Amino acid sequence: MRHWPPPNLCPGRKPNRICRCAMWTYATTGWSASPIDSRARDASTTPYAPSAKARLFTPPCRRNACTTPAFGAFMEKRKLKLNRRLVFMGLVGSILLLTGATYRLHRSSAKLEAYPASTILLDRQQQPLRIRLGAGDLDCRPVRLDLTGSWAAQALIAAEDKRFYSHPGIDPLAILRALALNVVKGRVVSGASTISTQVIKMNQPRPRTLKTKLLEAVAALRMEWALSKQEILEQYLNRAPFGSNLAGVESAAQRYFGKHAADLSLAEAALLVGLPRAPSRYRPDRHPTQAWRRRQEVLHAMRARGLIDIKQYNQTLREPLKLKTSAGPFRAPHFCELALSHTHETGPVTTTLDGQLQAVTETVAEKYRKGFREHGVFGTAIVILDVRTGAVRALVGSPDYYDAAHAGQVNGAIAPRSPGSALKPFVYAMALDDGRITPESLLNDRPLQFREYVPRNFDADFSGPVSARDALARSLNIPALELTRQTGTARLLDQLRKLGLHTLDKPASHYGLGLILGDGEVTLLDLANAYACLARGGEFEEWTLFEGERKGPPTRIFSPETAFLVADMLSGEDRLPTAGTRTPRMAWKTGTSAGGRDAWTFAWNPDYVVGVWVGHPDGRPLPEQTGSTAAAPIAAELFRALYLPQGEAPWFEPPPGLGQREVCAVSGQSPGPHCLRKTTGYYLPGISRNESCTLHRPEEAWPVEMQTFLRSKGMLSSETDAPAGLRITSPADGQSYLKLSETAGFAQDLPLTAATASSRKLFWFANGQRFAEQENGHAAYWPLAKGEWTLTCCDEAGKSDSVRITVR
Ligand SMILES: [Zn+2]
Repeated sequence: MRHWPPPNLCPGRKPNRICRCAMWTYATTGWSASPIDSRARDASTTPYAPSAKARLFTPPCRRNACTTPAFGAFMEKRKLKLNRRLVFMGLVGSILLLTGATYRLHRSSAKLEAYPASTILLDRQQQPLRIRLGAGDLDCRPVRLDLTGSWAAQALIAAEDKRFYSHPGIDPLAILRALALNVVKGRVVSGASTISTQVIKMNQPRPRTLKTKLLEAVAALRMEWALSKQEILEQYLNRAPFGSNLAGVESAAQRYFGKHAADLSLAEAALLVGLPRAPSRYRPDRHPTQAWRRRQEVLHAMRARGLIDIKQYNQTLREPLKLKTSAGPFRAPHFCELALSHTHETGPVTTTLDGQLQAVTETVAEKYRKGFREHGVFGTAIVILDVRTGAVRALVGSPDYYDAAHAGQVNGAIAPRSPGSALKPFVYAMALDDGRITPESLLNDRPLQFREYVPRNFDADFSGPVSARDALARSLNIPALELTRQTGTARLLDQLRKLGLHTLDKPASHYGLGLILGDGEVTLLDLANAYACLARGGEFEEWTLFEGERKGPPTRIFSPETAFLVADMLSGEDRLPTAGTRTPRMAWKTGTSAGGRDAWTFAWNPDYVVGVWVGHPDGRPLPEQTGSTAAAPIAAELFRALYLPQGEAPWFEPPPGLGQREVCAVSGQSPGPHCLRKTTGYYLPGISRNESCTLHRPEEAWPVEMQTFLRSKGMLSSETDAPAGLRITSPADGQSYLKLSETAGFAQDLPLTAATASSRKLFWFANGQRFAEQENGHAAYWPLAKGEWTLTCCDEAGKSDSVRITVR
C-alpha cells in the first residue's frame, strides 16, 4: 500500500496519536501499526499489516490528520459507512454515465465497420491464386458462422465468455469478480470483457481508458439489441487477431493449417481460439510451447463446461501440435496483377483462369525459355482465350516472374508492341465482307510504290499474280497494302478499334498504309481477343478476367461467312508449323515486326485462341527469330496440349449463308468458255463480285500493269489486248476534285456514267461500299467526300470497271 512503511508526514508527532487512516500510532519510539485489528488489539507494539478488507476501504494517509485512539475507532465506523455510500454513489454515477453515453452513442453511428476483408482471387476450379490484403494490410477472410467449423464457436465461449448466452453484452458478475480480484492483487490481473465488448474493441480500437471502456460497454449493449448472439460470434471469429497480420479464424486456419476453418479439428480449433488473447505470445509458428499450453487451457475450459466428454478431452490433450504453415498463395502472378487492377471487390473473387491450363502454359513457356536464352531472347508472353465468352483461361506475362535482370515482372501480354503482319487477316476480312475479293480472287504481288510507302515483302521477292488465299497465308505485303488502300486506312483503323485494339490511338494519317504492316502498337491480349472475334463467327466481345462477367452484348464486326473464310484461308495441313506431329486443326497467323523485334503467332479454332509473343522486354531486335520460327511452335504445342489425350478438336462448319460456285482456277472469276481449268470456291451470295474471267478471253488478257510485270519475269511472251466489257465513261481514272465548303449552299454531287450492252441495271460502289443502283443509260450521283476513292461499277452479268479519283 502507498502508506507502508509509515508516513512521517503527520506534523503533530505526539504520543498516542493515531493517523487518520487508523493504522498507525505515533509513540515515543516513532510510528507503529495501530491495534485496530482484533488480533492485534492487545499488542499495540506488534508489527501490523492491514487486512485486505481494511486496505480496500482505506483512503490514503493525509497531512494534519492525526487524532486520538477513541476518535480513531469512531472514524473507522464512519469510514465503513462512508465507503458503502461511496460504492452506492459510484454505482449511481456509473448508471448515469452509462445512460448519458448510451444517449450519446445512440445519436452517433454505432454501426460496426465493414470487415477489413482481403480480396482472394480464385481460379475457376475455386483454388486460391493470390490475396490482396484488406485495410490495415490485414489478411482477413470473413466467412459465415456455419463455415467456421463445429468447434471454434464453442471453444471461444468456453475460453473467453462463459455466460455469453445469458448476459446482455456486459457481464456484471464478471465485472464484480474482476474488480475484487484486481484490488486483492493490487494490479490489473483480470478484465471483465465479454465477446461482445471485444467485438466492439476490435471494430474500433481506442486507447485503454476507463472512459473508452464505458463507451465500449454501452456499444456492446447496443450491439446486442441489434445483432443476434450468432451474428456476434461471427463478428468475433472474423475480426479477432491471430498473430502476424491475420484477422479472423479463416485466414488463421489457412495460414497455420492450410485448410478452411470449416475443416478444423477440435485440437486445431482450440489452439486458434486461444490465440486472440495474446496473438504474438501464442503464435504457434513462433512459440509452439506457449501455444500448446494455451490450447490445453482452452480444452480444459471446454471440458469444464461439458462441451466435450472425458474421452475427447483426454484424446485431444495428447495430440501434438501439427502445423502446416503456408504463405499466401502466389500463382499466375501477371494474371493476378491484371485482375486485381480490374476489381475493387473483396472476399473470394472467381476469375476466368483455368488453373490446370495455366500450369500447362507455364510449363510450355519454361520449356522454350531455355532454348530462347541460348539465342539471347528473354521475353515470352502467352494468352489463351475462351472463344465463346472472351474469358482469359491462361496468361503468362514473362517466362520467369522473378528474373529481375530481364524485366520478369513486366507483363508482356499487355505491353504495346508492333504486331508486324498480324493485322493482315482483318483487312482481308473487310475486303471479303465488302465483296471485293473471294479467297480465289487474283491479287497482284508486284513492285509498287505507294505514295508514302515503298513496301517489301517479308521474303523480299515478288510473286506476281497470286490468289487472295495464298497472299494471306504467305503474308505478302503488296496485296495487303493494296487491299488497305482500297479499304481506306481510316476505315480499317476504325474497324481495328472496334475490335478492341485501343492502343491504336493516333489518327489514321499518323499510321498511313503502314498500319497493316505493323506501324501501330497493340497488346498480345487485345489482339488475341480480336482474333477471338473471327473465331466467334465475327461477333466481338471484350476479354474478361472474372467468371460470369459480361462487358456488354456482342457486337457484329464481320459476317459469319467472312469469319469462316479467314479461318479457312489460314488453316490447312500444309500450314501446320510442326510437320510430323499430330496437331489439331487450327487457323494461325504469324507476325514479325521491323528488325525482328517482336515475333507473334495467333492460332484459333472454335474453342480457343492462343496468342504468343516472343521478343525482348526492352525492344531490342531478335536475331534470326520470326513469328513462324519462335512463336508458332509454342502455339502449336499448346493446341496439342489443349486436346490431350484424344487429340480430337472441333472445326468450323461453313455458315449457311456461304455459297460455293465454279470459278476459273487462274483468275478466281466466273469461268468463261475459254477458261481451261476450273475449280470451286466459296463466295458471299449477293455480296461477292461476280465478274466473268477477264483473263481467258480469246487471248489471255492481263491488266496492263500486270502484263509489264509478267513480261519482266518472262511469264508472258506476247502482247495481249486489254479486257473489254463494262466501261466507266465518267469520271475519268485519276481525276482530282475539289470539295467546297459545306456552307456553299448546294449539294456537290458527282455524276457517274458507265457503258455496257448487256445489263438493265448498274450497281455503283465507292471504296467497296455500294451506294447506288441505277438504270443502264442513266447517271448515278455520288456526294463528294474528301479522300482517295475507288469508284466501281458492276452490271448484272458480273462485269465491272473501276476508276480512282481524289477529292481534296
Ligand atoms: Zn479464266
